[in-house]
Order: sequence, then structure tokens, then C-alpha cells
Amino acid sequence: MHRRIIAPGALAAASVLLAIPASAASYSPGAPGIGDPYYPAYGNGGYDVSHYDLRLKYQPATDELEGTATILARTTQDLSRFDLDFLLDVSEVRVNGAAASFASSGEHELAITPKRPLPKGTAVTVVVRYRGVPSAKQAYGFTSWHRTPDGGIGANEPEAAWWWFPSNDHPLDKATYDVSVLVPDGVQALSNGVLRSTRSRLGWTRWNWRQDKPQTTYLATLAVGRFDITRSTSEGGIPVINAYSRDLGENDGAARASVERTGEIVDWLSTYFGPYPFATAGGYVPDTTTGYALETQTRVYYSPRQFSNGSNTSVVVHELAHQWWGDSVSVKGWKDIWINEGFARYAQWLWSEHEGEGTAQQLADYVYASHPAGDPFWTVLPGDPGPDHQFDIAVYDRGALAIQALRNEIGDKAFFALLKDWTRRYRYGNASVADFRRLAEKVSGKPLAALFDTWLFQPVRPGAPAAHAASVAVRAAGAPVPPRSWKKIAATNGVHGHSG
Ligand SMILES: [Zn+2]
Repeated sequence: MHRRIIAPGALAAASVLLAIPASAASYSPGAPGIGDPYYPAYGNGGYDVSHYDLRLKYQPATDELEGTATILARTTQDLSRFDLDFLLDVSEVRVNGAAASFASSGEHELAITPKRPLPKGTAVTVVVRYRGVPSAKQAYGFTSWHRTPDGGIGANEPEAAWWWFPSNDHPLDKATYDVSVLVPDGVQALSNGVLRSTRSRLGWTRWNWRQDKPQTTYLATLAVGRFDITRSTSEGGIPVINAYSRDLGENDGAARASVERTGEIVDWLSTYFGPYPFATAGGYVPDTTTGYALETQTRVYYSPRQFSNGSNTSVVVHELAHQWWGDSVSVKGWKDIWINEGFARYAQWLWSEHEGEGTAQQLADYVYASHPAGDPFWTVLPGDPGPDHQFDIAVYDRGALAIQALRNEIGDKAFFALLKDWTRRYRYGNASVADFRRLAEKVSGKPLAALFDTWLFQPVRPGAPAAHAASVAVRAAGAPVPPRSWKKIAATNGVHGHSG
């Protein structure tokens, strides 16, 4: 059933296995998945990555990517073999300097057998040499690589790394990154973090990017194309690097009028969520036909289509809110997606209030009123939506409604203290919905199990007594009227999801 390629080194590795002493019996293969029930094959077991060093070369004309990934990791069990998640064609793997055998299997597994088994708790350096045409690769029938007229882009959720670097592809394994990309003069290579240097020689330019804070694999991005790069510093001192395709056409003005407000919005969000967690902020708008945006760490991915009706600062607020909710504090498992999307949506509600286009309370009342009992909207549980409903609108709108209910229950003082306590306590780590409930109870001094259960975990519309108790308007007079910000907020819907 699974595609299997036997590498030339496999036979040699088999004879090495025979030479392993009896004491090595405890050595076993790392699991092909990290243990997330939503995506059993995503990530891998047996090791933890601390750093990815990616040295790449990309040809926009042919979409050919070649490179060397050097991965620093530590074993978490006695390992005879381990997997990386990857789709491109591998020519060589070295583990701690020695040639290792390797074989592709499943949809995206690269199984690596080191020459000598690896004891638990030891440092491991894995070098993977590879090349390929990312747009020619699919897994599960889709691609996360966007071929553009001027290059290519890796950006998607929950999976994007497979098309451009080998990794332990799950949010639980965060790492720092150095991404160095050689591209022809005249095109630009973008990635996360700080641009350390560029150097041009013999018609090629090398772009050196550094992400010095832990980053999950799906938040790493690579974009090559004809970009105009802008730089500024926010009033609060955060350096901002944005980039716009030179081929945005009539969307160019609206894209810039939105994304150039990144610094202002980062400063504004900091007043709610605490200090911005990264060394730089920004976004890029490539020449793609996709419809979504993605909170790629420090360098948000936007689709031009999001600016086709004019500027939209609400989508910028959403993606920048994720820098705290999803990027700095990442999910433990994909079932915890409410921590990302509920709060990014709620930030849009706070921005609506800031802009005088409807308060968070009015937006909550509207969501409750516009979905009557029996609406399938209520069958999605934001607190555990299942992989097929992970990015359903209910995770966003019902998720934000639940946050307003929580705010009303514990009061503004405890609520806003909770937001900052959360982003400080779990900064650069992982946390779950259950962790959030525990902290909310600690900060507020109130038992909240029933409130969380009603608003996040029941497949029905919370009844009138629950709404009344949470100060959500039970019945508005006449048909519900959307607050003025609704259209811009709704234009953010479907921001995530596979492009096909
Ligand atoms: Zn989002």
C-alpha cells in the first residue's frame, strides 16, 4: 500500500544491524508519528529538534529546489531508526558524520537508519542533502507549495514543511532556524525572522534569515519572487519587514494600506497581550491565487485576493494576534486549535471596538442571535472540533463568543490579566485548552468547568439561561443586524485551509 524506495545503503545497514551487541536490544525505531490523534502520521517519535540550518538554492524558472538541511536534535529514547517528514528527493543522509541508510515510506516519511544506534539523551546531528521540484510533489492528494509566475512559496497549515525541508512536523517540536537561500539576482528570497545579510555574486544573491526564537514547522515559510521590500520600526520599537509582489496590479494599494499598518497594530495588540514575543514583525503579499492568510512566524502570508475589496486591517489584526496565540504559545495537539483561532478572532472584535465599528459584546450578541438552535454551526465543538472541522467557521465565531462569555463571567480586570498571564507563562512553549481553563480559574478564583463545557464542548446552542448568565443577549428585537465591522471580519473567514 505504501510506496517504498530501498536506498543503495539499505543492504549495508542490514549487515551492520547483525553486528549490534545483545545489550542494544532496547534500541527500537522511533514512532512514525508524534502521537496526535488528529494527524497520527504527523511529526515523529524518539527525538526532539533544537535547530534547523537550511542552506538552499532555488531556480524560479524551473521551480527546482536543492539544499542541505543540518538538523540538531536530542534523542528521547534508545533509537535504532527514526523518521523525518519530507517529500523531496534525498541523495544523502549523515548522522553524526557517518553515512546513514534511508528510505521513503507512507505519504511523507523519510526513515533513517544510522550506522550506529543512538542512545537516549544524546545530541545528534543529521545532515540531509536533497533536491526536487516542490510543485511536482503531493501528499494525500494536495500540495502546500504555491507556484507563482515569479517563483514559489511554502505556506500552509497544518503542513507546509514537507515541500521544502525535512522536519519533525508537529507544533510540539519547536526549534530555531537559520534559512539561507541562493536565488538569481532580481528576485528576492523571504523567510522568518531577521534578515542578517544579503550577498550578490556572479548573478546570484544569497539571503540569510534567522529565527532566533522557537518556531513550529508549519510557521516556517519560504517565498521566492519579485518583491518590493519595505522596512520600518514601530513606535514601540519593533523592526518591521514587509514585502509586496511587484505584480499585485490593482490590489497593490489596498495591500500596502493594510499591511503597512503592521507596526501600529503590533503595538496596539501588545497593550492586550503583553510584549511582542519576537525580534521582528511583518508580512508578505505574493502573486498567488490563493484566498487565505497564515500567521507564519514574524512574516505573515497574505493572499492578494484579501485586498480585492479595498484595505482590510482586520485580517492583519487576526494574523498578528496569532504571533502571541499560536506562534509564541503553540498548541500541544491540533485539538487545541481554539487557543489559536478563537483568540485571533477575538482580537478582531477588540479592533472593531477600537475602530468604533461595533463592540466585542455586540459582535458576540450577533453571533449568538444569527445562529438559531438547530443550526449545524452549534454541532462543531471549538474545544475539540475534530480534524475535519478544525478550521470551520464555528471554531472562530463560536470560539470568540465563548471568550466573550468568559470575559463577562470573570470581569474585565481578571480577563485582561489572564490574557497577559497566559502569554507570559507559556511563551515560546506549548499549551492546551485545559491549561487555559486552569489558568482562568486560578486568575479569576472561580470554578469555570461548566462555562467551558457549555460554550466550547457541547454540540448544541447554549440555552437562554446560559446566555443570560454569561450576559449574552438572549433575544435581539427583529432580525439580527450585523455590526459595521462584520463584513471585514467575515472576509477573513476561510483564511486557513488547503489550497487544493
Ligand atoms: Zn487564524
